[in-house]
Amino acid sequence: MDFPALKEFGLQDYPFICAQCSYCQSGHGACPTYKVKRTDSYTGKGKMLLTRALLQGRIDPAYGLQGLADAIYGCTLCGGCAEVCQTDIPFVKIYQVLRGEFKKRGMWPENMNLTKETLLKACNIQGQAQMDRIEGWSYWTPNEDELLDKQGQPSETAFFFGCGSSYRGIAIQATIATTLILDKIGEDYTVLGEEEYCCGAPLIMMGDFEGARTLAEHNIAKYKELGVKQIFTNCPGCYKMWAHEYKEFLDIDHGFKIRYGYEYISDLIKQGKIEFTNPLNIKLTYHDGCDAGRNGGYYDEPRDVIKSLPGVEFEELPHNKESCYCCGSGGVLRAVDGGFAADISKLKADDVKRTEADVVASGCPSCVEYLKDQLPQADCNKVVKDLMVLVAEAMGLTWDGLGEIYD
Ligand code: SF4
Ligand code: SF4
Repeated sequence: MDFPALKEFGLQDYPFICAQCSYCQSGHGACPTYKVKRTDSYTGKGKMLLTRALLQGRIDPAYGLQGLADAIYGCTLCGGCAEVCQTDIPFVKIYQVLRGEFKKRGMWPENMNLTKETLLKACNIQGQAQMDRIEGWSYWTPNEDELLDKQGQPSETAFFFGCGSSYRGIAIQATIATTLILDKIGEDYTVLGEEEYCCGAPLIMMGDFEGARTLAEHNIAKYKELGVKQIFTNCPGCYKMWAHEYKEFLDIDHGFKIRYGYEYISDLIKQGKIEFTNPLNIKLTYHDGCDAGRNGGYYDEPRDVIKSLPGVEFEELPHNKESCYCCGSGGVLRAVDGGFAADISKLKADDVKRTEADVVASGCPSCVEYLKDQLPQADCNKVVKDLMVLVAEAMGLTWDGLGEIYD
């Protein structure tokens, strides 16, 4: 049998170069899905060997294809296999391309059609009103009028929120924190408000590349109208789309400079623009979200931010940076199999429990939301906060939403 999309993306040879060393199965910090399932097909090696066997006709698709589909969708796209593999297989890209193949064969997991329908109808993954992207929570910030006025204003710099950071209570706190920080130091930026559509990441992760195109093109056109030259976002999943995947999967060259929010804020701190007045007096640990860390390479910037915060005693997680365990929320696994994602989060909770920290921070709205939800269910009662919120608190900034979420 054939997987034409592997050829289309120049990936057809990679399943044949796996050396079968099994390091992606047993190596330090490797596959979280294998750690839970203990089934070989869930590892990088298993997926490469199954793909290879199907391409060579050594397995009857009637027996092998569904197993590969289960493993390809039962993956958080965390990049752990790519991190430990001795070869240069671009695993995450191959998994997404194969998801596209399964979509074409009508083998999409049950929830995918509904997720797509919601997203394309509402222009956001929550299926909520676009008007609420800011107006749903702007009463939480003391700078409500300034924020509403920024919508659609011309500027060379744009803050792209992302869906989670616009609609989920805990993730919104990092959005508010960012706007208050930038307002306090007088940085100019624009926001799209209800004209900001989802970046399309869920569709690309589901394997529906063309479905993401209209969303991407809408946002790009809006930013061009406003004279935007650089875009920053706190969501590493949105960052990955804007910085890499529009080009890789949709062949779109938008021409904007794309920055991860914590790199942006780290630079502002280094330039001396941010002044800290309020010691936090906390013991802190840090979770490297997969798209920020392994898939994005942003290990130092969040740690530079942490080092600059007053009153913070920092302790790394036992598995950190390249070896950081996925929280379980990546790769649309929560939509495919919520119970499986929750089982993965227990591995993360065990790691967090091994620290003396009382606060766990991350630079990913999706991780922060999922950890806040899942850690207590694994008897881990540490406070979960976005790193941007800690920056704002150390600057002495306060707002109503934070009190509502954490009191
Ligand atoms: S991307 Fe992560 S979850 Fe998926 S196979 Fe690789 S290590 Fe496992
Ligand atoms: S680490 Fe790489 S080469 Fe080794 S078994 Fe896994 S996919 Fe194959």
